[in-house]
Amino acid sequence: MSVVLHLDVRRWRRHLAQVVSSTPGIVPVAKGNGYGFGIGRLAREVMDLGLHTLAVGTLPEVDHVPADFRGDIVVLQPWRPGDPLPSDPRVVLTASRPADIAQLAAEGRRRVLVEVLTPMKRHGLTLEELAGLPGLLAGIDLVGWTIHLPMPRASQGMEQVATQLARQALDVSRVPVWFSHLEPQDYETVRASTFADSRLRVGTALWLGDPGSRRTTATVLDVHPVARGERVGYWQRAMPGEGHVVVVSGGTAHGIALEAPTAASSWRQRAVSAAQGSLAAVSLARSPFTIAGAKRWFVEPPHMQSSMLFLPGRVPPPAVGTEVDVELRLTTASLDAIVDE
Ligand SMILES: *Cc1c(COP(=O)(O)O)cnc(C)c1O
Repeated sequence: MSVVLHLDVRRWRRHLAQVVSSTPGIVPVAKGNGYGFGIGRLAREVMDLGLHTLAVGTLPEVDHVPADFRGDIVVLQPWRPGDPLPSDPRVVLTASRPADIAQLAAEGRRRVLVEVLTPMKRHGLTLEELAGLPGLLAGIDLVGWTIHLPMPRASQGMEQVATQLARQALDVSRVPVWFSHLEPQDYETVRASTFADSRLRVGTALWLGDPGSRRTTATVLDVHPVARGERVGYWQRAMPGEGHVVVVSGGTAHGIALEAPTAASSWRQRAVSAAQGSLAAVSLARSPFTIAGAKRWFVEPPHMQSSMLFLPGRVPPPAVGTEVDVELRLTTASLDAIVDE
């Protein structure tokens, strides 16, 4: 097998149930690659959890929700002129500009969430636009307000911002308020201070919130002894020492090495390695594959379906067929299989 997600299903579902029970009004988000699991799989989990609302990222993603999903499918990305108007009655659109609301109203009475601009400054109506809204609202079925905040760790006092924006929106129309990226305790505070029916959209903390429930592995495909200075790979790079080249499954097609940009600490680490004349100095990059307890260096950038790693001479090489751990960012990963264990 190639790149596989081993899922401790019982543990994972225990975590899902715990998050759901501690988050009143939760709306699970299943967008993009379905956080590595696929939108279809997550939609089924949502049904099994007894929930009836699901959020997807874009209109085309609605097609990945199973036909037997009963409930609302909220599209997070705001609708724009030129986007199709879905005929699926389960779909709830998001609108974030007065002109778009007007156009949606002209197309018939549709179920719509209206987004309010926050310090995120991504999408949403300004407070002035909100004040001019009541006339427009008559033409749509306003399902709720949506308030999408910056990441909690990037900002403080977001519960106050959220409360204020929610109050302003509630003054225009008293419908449920849908939040994104509020910490659980801030969500509680905002709910308590606005007395509004509230929803919280959660993706990462729900699906990926218990890292111990899963393991991603690759398979050793080949092992070759190499001498110091021997040239290896597409790019014929000289090896920094005697050891082995280990070829593992998993490449760019799986999202290997499409990690988030490195944090400052890794750059510092890199400078230290260069000063010490270690592998980083010959510009090998650390791979996400662990062999014999350590992340190993890429011989060269990963190939499409496999990667070549350097294993120093003192480490006994793994046998072909051995499974090795690989750290993957699941929101950008493309897995060959998910094995429920
Ligand atoms: C993606 C998204 C979420 C979920 O984000 P996570 O960080 O995965 O929980 C919530 N709200 C909106 C509007 C989003 O686009």
